[in-house]
Parts: sequence; structure tokens; C-alpha cells
Amino acid sequence: MSAGYFPKRTKVGLEDLFKNLITASHILHHHGILDAYGHISVRSPDNHATFYMPCNMAPALLSSEEHLVEYNVEDGEPVEKHAKPGYLERYIHSEIYKRFPSINSVVHSHCAAVLPYTISGVPLKAGIHMAGFLGSNVPVWDASSHYSSGSKHDLLVRDTKLGASLSAAFKPATSAGFLYSKVRSALPAQIGGAPPDPAKEPDHAVVLMRGHGFTTVAHGIEEAVYQAIYTRDAAKAQMTALMIHDAHFGHVVEGKVDIEGGGKIKSAKVKTEGDVKFLKDSEAHDAWESIRGTIERPWRLWCREVEVNPLYRNDCPGCED
Ligand SMILES: [Zn+2]
Repeated sequence: MSAGYFPKRTKVGLEDLFKNLITASHILHHHGILDAYGHISVRSPDNHATFYMPCNMAPALLSSEEHLVEYNVEDGEPVEKHAKPGYLERYIHSEIYKRFPSINSVVHSHCAAVLPYTISGVPLKAGIHMAGFLGSNVPVWDASSHYSSGSKHDLLVRDTKLGASLSAAFKPATSAGFLYSKVRSALPAQIGGAPPDPAKEPDHAVVLMRGHGFTTVAHGIEEAVYQAIYTRDAAKAQMTALMIHDAHFGHVVEGKVDIEGGGKIKSAKVKTEGDVKFLKDSEAHDAWESIRGTIERPWRLWCREVEVNPLYRNDCPGCED
């Protein structure tokens, strides 16, 4: 079973890292965060200026370190000239690693449960304690504001310019409310990355992408997987809460009707009762501070789930504790 490398170990071997990256891809597929698209990456513990992510194949089918490609943070291009073809959207990852030195793992997903919040104008917020990291304000980044002239307008992050724009959305010029960086700054130095510096920490753990999906950033593989899974759970819980709220309370329309004028509505307003209750900023902060020390527990369960599922193979050698 994959033992995980964060937060337990003080030194990470590449063998362990590769094994965990493949296991993480399997877990994210198993939980519906990735299908044939989407990806997870990890920064190299040996070289801060490079990162690893799978080559261009469905995450569930990864099985060996031969399927991984090392990329330069600087330009998002492969370290080896003849590397296997990679994912087009690797610039999401490279530009986030470039902007945030202590971020070591990134997940990009097209998860169906999250997509409605990228196009509806309904804000995704932390409504459940397991997703305190979302806070009360999850930004929505819109690729259409950043297309280069002459480039395809297909919503994909297909170059460093779009990647840099997306990474900036994790730390907007003006941030309000719950700040992910405030929890992080209290954490010990992480593996493989730079020591946390509040000025260089993201203010948001998750950024939604219009009509596309979401991206989450973390200090380690396990934390990134946790945040991706519980972003989906928060989105599902919020959608169900909004639906049952409306089904139960309904909408009352109050106003005046002009009977002599044929029943025309002269004035009207919609009244709703009750509110869907979200976490306060202080609750989101404290919930995440409490939970984030426990993520090794679900990580070990998730590793076992994919280990016993014959769909997934992980032939990477890796040492156990
Ligand atoms: Zn994508």
C-alpha cells in the first residue's frame, strides 16, 4: 500500500514520489474527480525548478514511472528533449509552481458536480466543515478575458500567459474574508518546496474556471487529493441544499394586480424564506485548521480502495515505512 509522503516524512525519495503520484491519479479517478481528462502534478523534491506529471494518457491507466514526465517550472516544457507527449494544460501547473514557491502539488479537474458553479453565477462557498479550505469566496477565473490574439478560444490553458493569469487568481490584489494563506502560514516547512512565506502563499485553495472545471493547490500530494475530493463534496452538498431549500420554502410573489386592466401585474416582488447557512469565515478557518492534520487517515483508505480494484495497476517500486 502506498504509505504517503506528506506530512510524515522529512525526506522524500523519487521512487516514493512516483508511486504516490500514480496512486493519487487512481484515487482521483476512482472518486470521479478525473475521468479521461484532468491531472495531478507534484514538484520535484530534488529540484525546486522542475515538477512531474503524467504523460498524455487517461489517469486510471497510469501504471509505471515510464508514464511520468519531468517539466521545467520556468516554461512548462519537458526537461528531456524526447519526453513522451504531455498534457496540453501543463501550463496550469508550471505557472502555479512559479508563482507560489511553497506549493508542491496541483490538481486540475473537470468534475461535473463543480461545473454548475463555474457558469451559473451562484458562488461556491464552504458549507460543510470538511471543506473549510474553500472559505466564503471561491474565485471564478474566465479564460475569455485573457486569450491572446490569434489563439484558439477553447477555454483551455494552452500557454504560459493563460497559466500565469489563472495562477494570479489564487492571490488576487484584494482578498477579503477567509484567507487560506493565514492557515498555511502557521504550518511547518513543507517537503520539497520553500518554507511558507505568507506573502507568497495563495489566498485561495481552489479557483473555479468558467465552463471548464477547477484547480486546487496544496503543499503535498495527499492534501491536494483531499481538497479535490472535498471540493466536489461541498459542491454536491450546496446544490442539494439549494434545491431542497427552494422545494420546501418555495417562492411567494407579493404584489398588485390591475383587475380592471385585464389582470395585469402592476407591481410584484419575490419573497423567500429561510437561508442556506454557510460557514462563517472564522468557522472555515478553524475547521480547516482542525481537519488538515488528519488527512493521512482518508489517504490510507483511498490508497487501499484503488489497490484492491483490478482496474488500477501501480508497478512503481516504493519503500514502505
Ligand atoms: Zn482542463
